[in-house]
Amino acid sequence: MAQSSTTTPLRDLRSRVQKRADAAADTRPRVTLSFYRYVQISDPESFKTRLLDKWQAFGCLGRVYVAQEGINAQMSVPTEYWPEFDAWVQHQPELTGIPYKMAVEEGELPSFFKLMIKVKDKIVADGLDDSSFDVTDTGAYLTAAQMNEYVTDPDAIVVDMRNNYESEVGHFESALTPDVVTFKDELQKTPELLRVHKNKKIALYCTGGIRCEKASAWLKHNGFSDVRHLKGGIIDYAHQVKEQGLENKFRGKNFVFDERLGERVGEEIISTCHLCKSQKSDTHYHCQNQICHTLFIGCAGCVEKKKGYCSFVCRQIDRLPASTKKTVARHYNLKIRKRRPFQKTRPQR
Ligand SMILES: [Zn+2]
Ligand SMILES: [Zn+2]
Repeated sequence: MAQSSTTTPLRDLRSRVQKRADAAADTRPRVTLSFYRYVQISDPESFKTRLLDKWQAFGCLGRVYVAQEGINAQMSVPTEYWPEFDAWVQHQPELTGIPYKMAVEEGELPSFFKLMIKVKDKIVADGLDDSSFDVTDTGAYLTAAQMNEYVTDPDAIVVDMRNNYESEVGHFESALTPDVVTFKDELQKTPELLRVHKNKKIALYCTGGIRCEKASAWLKHNGFSDVRHLKGGIIDYAHQVKEQGLENKFRGKNFVFDERLGERVGEEIISTCHLCKSQKSDTHYHCQNQICHTLFIGCAGCVEKKKGYCSFVCRQIDRLPASTKKTVARHYNLKIRKRRPFQKTRPQR
């Protein structure tokens, strides 16, 4: 089924550059957080309007998906409005008691430049037919301390349910990190990948926990009996490790889907610059050439030298006159992008 989405009635028509400038000019302290819930929302459109009215008044920014199956929100809220925001959210019947995942660290700029609320068919694009299995039969939760035991237990297998560009910069020690670029692919490949580990205990994890709700039910449906998942994902794991003084078994950085593109969990850098393939780096960039916009990992030296482009070709394309660029963009999107997914690089030793 095609994903339908509608834009907000109060559509934000500012350009991206303008949004970025406006966000940078608003220097109020903010909190970045995410939350989700699978809950029946009978009229997503009116639910969206309710959220939009209130959250705009609070000066909230973020990316929010609403569907009949629930809500998935990533947000930046001005600290001065936090008490009102929290009280209002917890007062909505669909959201009462919803737990927040607070960001591990804030960036210099707001983590979002606008507030976007979209009505979708699903709150996470998983490509599954939910009527074909019991989506409520999810795996039991694991705490951070329990996750640590799984990581070192030879009878357990830990699976990263995120994409390759996320696991490349950070993952649990000993975790399986499937080489996929979408969650849909991940769900298709994981049962096959785990076939040889059928009798092991399985622990899943993702950024904030939402993907594992569906993935754990999907794996159970595929015949895996002992499936658990990390409650609150890597974000909550990092908080629990700090608060309870646990050993941190997550290596590297937690990729996040906002302007920060990552938050540090451990000090270690486990990935390598995609351009020189030699310097250690875990900083993601989007190629400056908007046609390409490829996500890559770059070291400071390479990004400076290449002026933020992923390649020499991209830099040349960006210099073309606007009319020519349009033709190039069409060709690129049709012919090249499909052949060029995010490529994990192996460090040259
Ligand atoms: Zn480099
Ligand atoms: Zn590029």
